[in-house]
Amino acid sequence: MHETTIPTHCPYCALQCGMNLRGVPQPDADAGTAVEVVERPDFPVNRGALCGKGRTSPSLLSSRVRLTGPLVRSHATGRLEPATWEEALRTIADRLRRTRETHGADAVGVFGGGGLTNEKAYTLGKFARVVLGTSQIDYNGRFCMSSAAAAHTKAFGLDRGLPFPLEDVPRTGCVILVGSNLAETMPPALRYLMELKENGGKLIVVDPRRTKTAEQADLHLAPRPGTDLALALGLLHEVVAQGRTDEEFIAARTSGWADARAAAMAHWPELVERITGVGVPALREAVRLFCDAPSAMVLTARGPEQQSKGTDTVSAWINLCLATGRAGRPLSGYGCLTGQGNGQGGREHGQKADQLPGYRKLDDPAAREHVARVWGVAPESLPGPGRSAYELLDALGGDVKSLLLMGSNPVVSAPRAAHVEERIRSLDFLAVADVVLSETAALADVVLPVTQWAEESGTTTNLEGRVLLRRKAVDAPAGVRSDLEVLGALAGLLGHEKGFPADPEEVFEELRRASAGGLADYSGITYRRIAEEDGVFWPCPEGDEQDADPHPGTPRLFLDRFATADGLARFVPVGHRPAAEEPDAEYPVLLTTGRVVAQYQSGAQTRRVDELNAAAPGPFVELHPQLAERLGVGEGEPLAVVSRRGRATGPARITTGIRPDTVFMPFHWPGEGRVNTVTNPALDPTSRMPEFKVCAVRLEPAGPG
Ligand code: SF4
Repeated sequence: MHETTIPTHCPYCALQCGMNLRGVPQPDADAGTAVEVVERPDFPVNRGALCGKGRTSPSLLSSRVRLTGPLVRSHATGRLEPATWEEALRTIADRLRRTRETHGADAVGVFGGGGLTNEKAYTLGKFARVVLGTSQIDYNGRFCMSSAAAAHTKAFGLDRGLPFPLEDVPRTGCVILVGSNLAETMPPALRYLMELKENGGKLIVVDPRRTKTAEQADLHLAPRPGTDLALALGLLHEVVAQGRTDEEFIAARTSGWADARAAAMAHWPELVERITGVGVPALREAVRLFCDAPSAMVLTARGPEQQSKGTDTVSAWINLCLATGRAGRPLSGYGCLTGQGNGQGGREHGQKADQLPGYRKLDDPAAREHVARVWGVAPESLPGPGRSAYELLDALGGDVKSLLLMGSNPVVSAPRAAHVEERIRSLDFLAVADVVLSETAALADVVLPVTQWAEESGTTTNLEGRVLLRRKAVDAPAGVRSDLEVLGALAGLLGHEKGFPADPEEVFEELRRASAGGLADYSGITYRRIAEEDGVFWPCPEGDEQDADPHPGTPRLFLDRFATADGLARFVPVGHRPAAEEPDAEYPVLLTTGRVVAQYQSGAQTRRVDELNAAAPGPFVELHPQLAERLGVGEGEPLAVVSRRGRATGPARITTGIRPDTVFMPFHWPGEGRVNTVTNPALDPTSRMPEFKVCAVRLEPAGPG
């Protein structure tokens, strides 16, 4: 510990709450220094508030279950056995080299994570393309935000989750929150909605469940899962029918209205009521609240996005904003509430299958030229775009023979998880870098123990596009190395002695140059500026030497023009279509999934924190009393949720806060309660996002064992 308290950020979700870490000397001098979380009220996003995950985040630093030495699978025993770093790294380098020589560069895959810092995401993408020469890289953020990103780019020419800071939310007139349970996923953000209401603003929540967030709404719309697109079209139809469009804004700032209008007019309210189950009076009330407000926002999260039509669904919500003049104006706009800790930055710096740093496209010759120059390689040496996350996982053991995986646990978090697990088991070689022996790491041939967030510095970009600095507060245990050190060492063993620094700030300096001139331009951002300004919003170009003042960063986008070539926002005409899998006689019920407050994502970290585990020890099946009665199931009785892909079990939790045609399961657990065994990998044609949020299931008494 280098100072009394170190200001930093939570390791978990995209809110990236500010916190201070304070050293706590241990009675046993050999135990070193532990850290505890102290409130950081001066950080504007959370103003000191933290959820239980943030408060307990240091416990994993000193946990007995964290990995503190490499593991290599023994040929003799078949088990993972302790190994030296040299042995572990050399094994990985040898096996990846052998795969490449035998089967070609694309036989080596790389899978990253939305929790990796900007520096790690950047280096991982560079490592894949420069050292391995493979196109086969993607990451778990594909499962998180890709539909919103695709729709954002289509409409605005640029994807930044929120084009305005959260501080604008309480000052707008109305928020439609679609498929987000902020009260559980990022509790400190709920206060923005509470302040909105205190200021006289209106909150409309769209969710098939009456969540803790929906309970705060002035109006709760509970559509059938998979019908958010029809709901948005019905609202737009009603906006037109009531003459509530903003024709001046449409003419001055948008293009494509005629086609989008025609598409919406095919979704009249009575039809939308039949599709969604949301009554016409509620639709009209939503339009009244939204249009009466002087300014308004639509915020979406995974509910509408994790669908096989997620991109079109988000486009429909954006169309609603554009038609009513609620975009590109102060206190109005569309935004996506990104989920993972670096869900925003993780998608900007090149670990995505089709992207280079700075949001540059891998198939754009000018982009390749720019990035290749920064990397000191020939543009033609860079591979082209690869497969999306699920398609990559599905190809494991086929033409992708070896995989290097960092910061992800797809055995629990991928759709059709039993199939993905079987694909992973069929690999010739798997190397995993993680802080604990996750369910995926347990299948690896080599496991590398890596540093945790408080043991290293690095930047993340929160859901607002605010670039933040996590600072090192405590030394890592002996035997643990950072992901950057791992990639640097592997690059060296694979013949690239230079170009892969282990120092995060050095990587960031290179990232700045790689991003310069791109859509996500970080070139004017430095570690010093982030520290002094509590974060800097991108785009933030460096400017030239004549500029007297540095660029201030861009908290609010699109106020003058959108980021399209002509500066106009684009309507995208979309129409409703059913989910990839609709209920039938065999599978008559809809399943939707989500999170609970005490666990995070696949639970690899939070399931290993006693306090969080005590609060949320396992999965459950939430269902309506009518459905429970039909099944003859009582509260707490074991229930199996079965789809065409598999089954997951949990005790029944009976509540009137869910539609009678729908069941809900949280997705944080492996084993019998692994609900992603059940979920559908049907992909959105544009974003390649799997349809986590809706599939057809039947329910069966699970019985003991
Ligand atoms: Fe951490 Fe998110 Fe909880 Fe904030 S809301 S403390 S960032 S998990």
